[in-house]
Amino acid sequence: MHDTLKRVFGFQSFRPNQKVIINHILKKRDVFAVMSTGGGKSLCYQLPAKIMEGTTVVISPLISLMKDQVDAALGNGIAAAFLNSSLSSEEMSAVNHKLHNHALELLYIAPERFAMPNFLESLRSVPLSLFAVDEAHCISEWGHDFRPDYLNLSNLTRAFPNIPVAAFTATATPNVQDDIINKIGLRTPYIVRASFNRPNLFYQVKRKKEVGSQILEFLREHGNEPGIIYRTTRDSVAKLAEFLVSNGISALPYHAGLEGEVRRANQEAFSKDKVNVIVATIAFGMGIDKSNVRFVIHADLPKNIEGYYQETGRAGRDGELANCILFFAVQDISKIRYFIDQVQDGVERSIVMHKLNQMVAYASHYVCRRRQLLGYFGESYPEENCGACDVCVGMVEKVDATVDAQIVMSAMARTDQRFGINHIIDIVTGANTSRIRELNHDEVKTYGAGRHKEKDHWRFIVDELLAQEAIVQDGGQYPVLKLTKKGSNILYGREAVTALKREEVKKRTKLPKGIHYESFDEALFERLRLLRIKFAEEQQVPPYIIFSDMTLHEMCVYYPATLTDMKKISGVGDVKLQRYGADFISVIRRYLNENPGISIPDKQPSPVTVNEIPLKRTGNTIEKTYKLFKQGLSVKEIAEIRNLAISTISGHMETLIRGGRDVEIDRLIDPARRESIEKLFRKLKTWNTAPLVDGTNGKVSYEEAKLVRAYILRKAR
Ligand code: ADP
Ligand code: ZN
Repeated sequence: MHDTLKRVFGFQSFRPNQKVIINHILKKRDVFAVMSTGGGKSLCYQLPAKIMEGTTVVISPLISLMKDQVDAALGNGIAAAFLNSSLSSEEMSAVNHKLHNHALELLYIAPERFAMPNFLESLRSVPLSLFAVDEAHCISEWGHDFRPDYLNLSNLTRAFPNIPVAAFTATATPNVQDDIINKIGLRTPYIVRASFNRPNLFYQVKRKKEVGSQILEFLREHGNEPGIIYRTTRDSVAKLAEFLVSNGISALPYHAGLEGEVRRANQEAFSKDKVNVIVATIAFGMGIDKSNVRFVIHADLPKNIEGYYQETGRAGRDGELANCILFFAVQDISKIRYFIDQVQDGVERSIVMHKLNQMVAYASHYVCRRRQLLGYFGESYPEENCGACDVCVGMVEKVDATVDAQIVMSAMARTDQRFGINHIIDIVTGANTSRIRELNHDEVKTYGAGRHKEKDHWRFIVDELLAQEAIVQDGGQYPVLKLTKKGSNILYGREAVTALKREEVKKRTKLPKGIHYESFDEALFERLRLLRIKFAEEQQVPPYIIFSDMTLHEMCVYYPATLTDMKKISGVGDVKLQRYGADFISVIRRYLNENPGISIPDKQPSPVTVNEIPLKRTGNTIEKTYKLFKQGLSVKEIAEIRNLAISTISGHMETLIRGGRDVEIDRLIDPARRESIEKLFRKLKTWNTAPLVDGTNGKVSYEEAKLVRAYILRKAR
């Protein structure tokens, strides 16, 4: 298996779940797998197709993608073909000829073909290794993508009792999962439910002001990265695309109001890297298989989290870092509500309303975005800090909400935690209702404690506390608010509450740019990219089928100039090495000749990852340290005066440097020493301090390493 992985696909290691799935398939066991987009599902059946005797039949609903998938497989030297209605009868019989001569390892077909009796019969006379059902959720009427054609796959296992069946999908609730397994008739399948987490996506919510200019600013900072911008209406799509083009951005629109021909052409230009940015309504996406989408921007509030997750899921399928940005303005809520109010059915209306509220909560609360998304799909996220969302890295503007939280919670506690949201808010705002008077709640000590602020504000505080699980709603029809352990800690002043800042802020604070992928030689990348386009055009395939962005990035880090070195690059298997190796090597050689003095790192197994670090942690204690430092004291002296450990003060200095404060680094560490530590970081290719400290046998301390790291990261911004 590993040998095939390396030789055919050029990958060093399996992604999570791939190995165990393939193992079961090779043992002819049925498999049912839910794996997120970009999780690497195709490898799970393409690798067995290469190893097992006979042909692997892949059933896929997206005819438009089949050609690309087959091209990708051919590109790795897998004997592949497809059968669907787009083929002429000659092409069709050529494929059939190959199939019956046992010359195909992989055959993609559309589901409707299974409705043709003679097709099934003819398939029986061919030695088959595996049926792989892609997008398997399409068979379930309960799923959001039901396709009647998929019902042709019902009882596939009865028709072919000796052939294993593996079903794959990226979305399936437990109900849909059972439905799929029953409909296809999987025989005690090995089940994989992989996490919905997409660790390479950076989630961010920005306050929406002039969204066109805000997006333009982002695009300018992000060079020529390809990405998708979603808007809700055709009109806003057209206007934004026009605005971007007039500002020199290579962008095209996509919405249902455009001619089919234009739509197809625009989509194609995007998937073939001819245009960087596509501005689209949510009509755009199904059938988009482009792996190097570097950002997905939502310029308007999505209606629900399912949609948002699916749309952002189109970013970073190649596993490289990508940005997902939502521009959020409170006014967007009322626009969606207007449409929701048109929904006739009361139950349905309250469901969509509830979903909208969850979306708004995602954007408004001081809770890790990743935790919220995963929580929506019933998955708990174990990490305290995900390291890749604006909340966790401290890119958000926040305020202390402890006092307001205590007002709410004290009203709850003083009424024995027996009342619901509205009544508690009535107490806090000092409302004069009959219920308040009946219950004598106007005598509660907190009555009216919050009358100086709007009701709306208190509702927000309650929602914030619910989101942060400081309070919970308990009980069925008339739920009451209860304090959790965290809640009582807050009430008794043992813990603080932070909330996102809600009002408009005029002053623009400097925010980090989000994250980029590993640094690589961009000039070389541009040349390799052009070479890739040339091959892609010759072969009429999208560029990433030649080499993915990740593969090119690696080349731009390690400059492979021989076939042996080229072979070490991830994504370069034997066939691609033979086909393209020499051409890419010759571009790299020429580049190295023109740019003498480039130092080439040894290829190390693990790539560098840069962890963004919280920016603003301007606690009081840090400010005290800063003040003393500015008065000319050394770290050691500050530690003595403040009666704190040197490592603590050093940690403060690190935070101050990262936060962009004016810290004279030379006072902390000698410049020559700093430079040598800087070099060590670059040589080790990791921001982790442990290898550096260990590698120098402790001659460099953790404190020094961290200070230098903060300094380098700040310079890089
Ligand atoms: P899915 O169908 O699950 O959305 P794909 O099969 O298209 O995902 O795979 C996504 C990307 O990951 C592709 O570019 C693929 O080449 C790459 N990939 C898959 N498996 C591996 C692996 N083991 N190592 C590196 N890259 C991989
Ligand atoms: Zn987070």
